[in-house]
Amino acid sequence: MQVDNGAWRVAIVGAGPSAFYTAEALFKAGSPVQVDMFDRLPVPFGLVRGGVAPDHQNIKAVVKVYDKIASNPGFRFFGNVRIGRDLSVAELAQHYHQIVYAFGCESDQKLGVPGEDLAGVYAATDFVGWYNGHPDHRHHTFDLANARTVALVGNGNVAMDVARILLADPDELAKTDIAEHAVAVLRTSKVKEVVLLGRRGPAQAAFSPKEIEEIAELPDVDVVVSTADATVDPMSAAWLEKDGARSQQRNVKFLQERAAHGPTGKPKALRCRFLVGPTALHGDGGRLQAVQVEHMTLVADADGTPRPKASGNSERVAVDLLFKAIGYRGIPLQGVPYDDKKGIVCNVDGRVVEKTGGPVRVGHYVAGWCKRGPTGLIGTNSLDAKATVDALKTDHADGLRLTPTGGDIAPLLTQRKADSVSWADWQRLDAFEQQQGKASGKLRQKLVSIDEMMRVVRQLRSH
Ligand code: NAP
Repeated sequence: MQVDNGAWRVAIVGAGPSAFYTAEALFKAGSPVQVDMFDRLPVPFGLVRGGVAPDHQNIKAVVKVYDKIASNPGFRFFGNVRIGRDLSVAELAQHYHQIVYAFGCESDQKLGVPGEDLAGVYAATDFVGWYNGHPDHRHHTFDLANARTVALVGNGNVAMDVARILLADPDELAKTDIAEHAVAVLRTSKVKEVVLLGRRGPAQAAFSPKEIEEIAELPDVDVVVSTADATVDPMSAAWLEKDGARSQQRNVKFLQERAAHGPTGKPKALRCRFLVGPTALHGDGGRLQAVQVEHMTLVADADGTPRPKASGNSERVAVDLLFKAIGYRGIPLQGVPYDDKKGIVCNVDGRVVEKTGGPVRVGHYVAGWCKRGPTGLIGTNSLDAKATVDALKTDHADGLRLTPTGGDIAPLLTQRKADSVSWADWQRLDAFEQQQGKASGKLRQKLVSIDEMMRVVRQLRSH
């Protein structure tokens, strides 16, 4: 497709939810705009494809909204194009009036305790990418065949996803779009118990009520909580009453009901522990055997939020494997100012700044997790992207934008022999994956390597 070189042109780096919501807000801005979306993978949708759990197809259905956004005549997808390899940020600046970085947070937070590199210690983000068939994560190995008890550090919604995938029936998962290699390993799993280690109390659990309730609904899985663990300390009770969200109140109610009810004798369990923070991971022969946890008390910080403080008592919990589910972390992109402390692109309300507290870099913006950090549900990124696009619109109207001299980017990519994946290519690949899935009784058979994706894209193109 030819682009009008005189038109307002915006590049978006990344093709996850924030990228699509940015495109949507741009198309609603009222002026004709050309939006080019770049992703290093040949496939779009970021964490909706590579993060959202395969048994959460209702959440994944949001891609229908993204398909509609992509159908706008001003939209182009350039998959398999890595900014920093195929094109530099400086080159984007020569071809677009504005650039929006929406590349998310692709790495994991470190615990920073001794023993973190023992065999049997994993990042939840790697496990999530692995079962979702993300090309970066397909090579990981998880020794589930020799594990009965698994510790899960952190109790956010990623921890819930990991717990569910570890405890669910692999035959049910096999019907989804889960990666084939993951089902094969999950079928060998001996995991019977997942111990959830929360460093704060039940009132501060980071999971959403729906997520913990869903685990209790699994036919073979008990959610087990002791009365002591379900007890809310007086400070948290006051905090919950004054500042606590409805979801936190619902979590406490659920946990206290589980404690009162006791185990029902199902064969597998998610054991929820609170006020325990890992301080060391113990191994034997280089392999994890136990996690040392410090018992915590809660103290209010300056704004009254309960924070964990070591009590001086600790305990050794025997486990076979441990997953760290303590959050994602951003990876810097060459040529884009990065705040290493916060793990985000340096910005003020979506406008990129040269460094924290520094001047605005005209024409460069940020949206989503790489703007504010890895928090919130998918929908949170819609509001976030709209706020960034408001800044783009204001600056565009004020003439605060780049002055591209380069015209359309497509010829440059052709000249570089970068084999970019168009939206039409992706649609063919999408149909192919769904057909392959149908043939083997599942929703989708994902291709999990970039080479394989590109081989199929080229083959489908030539038909
Ligand atoms: P999260 O919600 O921020 O949870 C991180 C957890 O790790 C918290 O329990 C946190 O405890 C704990 N933690 C952090 N540092 C720790 C440390 N050093 N030691 C022990 N515990 C530590 O992060 P997430 O689970 O990665 O999820 C990221 C975002 O994606 C969230 O907004 C989540 O809701 C969303 N998400 C949603 C879904 C869904 O809707 N189904 C699924 C997956 C993810 P503190 O609270 O004490 O800091």
